[in-house]
Amino acid sequence: MNRRGYGEFEMTFKIIPKSVLAEWFDALNRDYRVLGPKPKAGQFIFDEIQTIEDVDLEYPTTILPPKKVLLPTKEVLFSFDANESQFEPQIEAVPVIILGIHTCDMHAIALLDHVFSSGYPDQHYLARRTKTTLISIECLKPCSEHAFCKDTGTLSVTEEFDLHLTDLGEDYAVDIGSEKGELIMANAPGVREAEIDDYQRLETVMSQKWARFPYRLNFDVSELPSLLSVSYDSILWKILGTKCMGCGSCTVVCPTCYCFDVVDEIDFSLETGERIRVWDSCQLNMFATVADGHNFRESHGARVRHRFFRKGKYLASAYGQRGCVGCGRCAQACLAHITPIETFNELYRRQFLTVYEPRGTMP
Ligand code: SF4
Ligand code: SF4
Repeated sequence: MNRRGYGEFEMTFKIIPKSVLAEWFDALNRDYRVLGPKPKAGQFIFDEIQTIEDVDLEYPTTILPPKKVLLPTKEVLFSFDANESQFEPQIEAVPVIILGIHTCDMHAIALLDHVFSSGYPDQHYLARRTKTTLISIECLKPCSEHAFCKDTGTLSVTEEFDLHLTDLGEDYAVDIGSEKGELIMANAPGVREAEIDDYQRLETVMSQKWARFPYRLNFDVSELPSLLSVSYDSILWKILGTKCMGCGSCTVVCPTCYCFDVVDEIDFSLETGERIRVWDSCQLNMFATVADGHNFRESHGARVRHRFFRKGKYLASAYGQRGCVGCGRCAQACLAHITPIETFNELYRRQFLTVYEPRGTMP
């Protein structure tokens, strides 16, 4: 069901005035750890929000996505004591609210939910996720020159959120998506049911929004998996490989990257220690190094290709959800100026070259 309430569909919005947000935040802070977009050194990060002054809900984008709350950069999986043959799982989960999540990041969280609950469900991720309340916000203008969320279909969200806010000027329209959201709204001051004028204001805001977002890909994103399939041997990967430095920044900032490494940290007695999970990156040289030092994705070009295939094809095949949500963070982070928009458009252009283009495999 379309919960956004147009035409014959259900209308379920509430209205909260911006003037009561400070009071609402104070109440939320008593029961939850509240995180939201906060300015830092000219950019924005998701960080602790103590008062309304800490947060800026009109932020463009954040350096790291809210993924870092659900999948910390480093976490202890379990501690062990070899003498006692004891293994103690370390599952830490406190009630958290993540506030002001853009719709692209909501789609990324939906993918992570799918990934971490499939196969062997990840109890660490899922414990944290269960205790997390997601408050998303409608994006009303593009957040960066590199965003292509309109192409990837992530410029709106109809599920996954507990609450979804749309800025109406003096007020926010609030769409309630779950019982968790209902609970939070029940204790919010100054909330009222939306009236016909509010729906008209919402219609106006939403209709003005879409025209502000240009399409950035020269083809429909549904063609991306097949475009990549026929481009596996494209010379473009070698060209990009000469630019890429293998730094891994693109994967660190990506809301849908979730590869990790597991290491043991053992104390000096060699008797007790902890098993740690840390973020990893397929763009790093060691990622694909296996027995006898063999690296099955040795060249930068092969690693760049793998990343774009994972974003545009592999994750869609495995989970039926897009692996790239078009947030543009990787393009912003890449010092070699390798961007998904240019890469995908260039692959598309090269399909129509009439001159012979050399192709080849890469290690
Ligand atoms: S690949 Fe780039 S644009 Fe796509 S989701 Fe990851 S960081 Fe965002
Ligand atoms: S594509 Fe850019 S950000 Fe990613 S590893 Fe290469 S140089 Fe680093």
